[in-house]
Amino acid sequence: MNAEGGPARVRLSLAAALALGLRSGRTYRGARTSCVNLLLDYPVPCFSRCAYCGLSRHRPLAPGGPESFIRVEWPAFPTELVRARIAEREPAVKRVCVSMVENPRAFEDAERLCRSIRTSTGVPISVLIHPRGLGAPELLRLRQAGADMIGIGLDAASPRLFARVRPGLEWDTYWRTVLAARSVFGPGKVNCHVVVGLGESDQDLLRLASSLRERQVSTYLFCFYPEPGTRLAGRRRPPLSRWRRLQVATFLLGRGLPLEALRFRAGRLAEIAIDARALAEAIRSGAPFRTHGCPDAQGQVACTRPFGSYRPGEPFRDFPFPLEAQDVARAEREARARWFERPPRASFGRGRALVRQPDGCYGCAP
Ligand code: SF4
Repeated sequence: MNAEGGPARVRLSLAAALALGLRSGRTYRGARTSCVNLLLDYPVPCFSRCAYCGLSRHRPLAPGGPESFIRVEWPAFPTELVRARIAEREPAVKRVCVSMVENPRAFEDAERLCRSIRTSTGVPISVLIHPRGLGAPELLRLRQAGADMIGIGLDAASPRLFARVRPGLEWDTYWRTVLAARSVFGPGKVNCHVVVGLGESDQDLLRLASSLRERQVSTYLFCFYPEPGTRLAGRRRPPLSRWRRLQVATFLLGRGLPLEALRFRAGRLAEIAIDARALAEAIRSGAPFRTHGCPDAQGQVACTRPFGSYRPGEPFRDFPFPLEAQDVARAEREARARWFERPPRASFGRGRALVRQPDGCYGCAP
């Protein structure tokens, strides 16, 4: 325990350790983050048993050493040192995210950590919560401790898939917590992490994104990447073209495209009924392919999670920086390519139903 009774050590993503000067080195194409992602560190792994997660108790971490999950290193540092570095580098650190695992101490530790960061800095704080046992009163305590945004790792896109890959956890509990967080933190202040490639259909995933959008809750897509030692270690990653299409469709839903403009065949996205020029404009902006994460105080994405779902040298599944012209051209080719496993004949963007409005919204025509 530290002086405030919080955890003595926290783990940092390697990108966050670089941002705080606690590690040195260069990254592929200079990919960096201005969000310090902190993970509460316990001698035992997370009590949950999610089939894809590197923190699951079925894939124990050896406490004390540099470890990895989501394939990047998460070294541990004394909490006080991390807090002091955040305060020192405040203009460059645009957000802090405190991530909980399932552990009986996690909620109170997260609350203390938020409070102690808030006493020394004005940096916006997100908490990526583990919903078990958390309702509106606990969420209010996190807000009072200084958090302004809540992330919830829903991960699976439907209740059925959730039950399959997250044994022992309940979709209904997660969903109730999403709604409670929305009411405590307000519109645009809650996000759900959803993983593409766990076995969901496009339709399930996009229906979920639409339903979250109706509640002014953001959907942040994560691309599945098998974690060694987990139950899904042998599962293939989703084809790049499927991932790109889902990035585009989720982006458009987030900009007001109604779900009815998406056409599905056998659960797969087969058509986006939107004016072809408007679709090309959205794609060529590069915005659908950027990492979607919590923003800084100016509304720009701060949490860019570089190398969270791809390795250096591979195509960026999501881009932690603005795309260059060749990145956009490649992402567009990938989005328009057919994907394997006998896809439906997709007419991607041939419809004429919807046109981008001057305010950037798709489908909100006056
Ligand atoms: S998007 Fe980033 S900052 Fe926001 S909750 Fe998720 S991990 Fe935390």
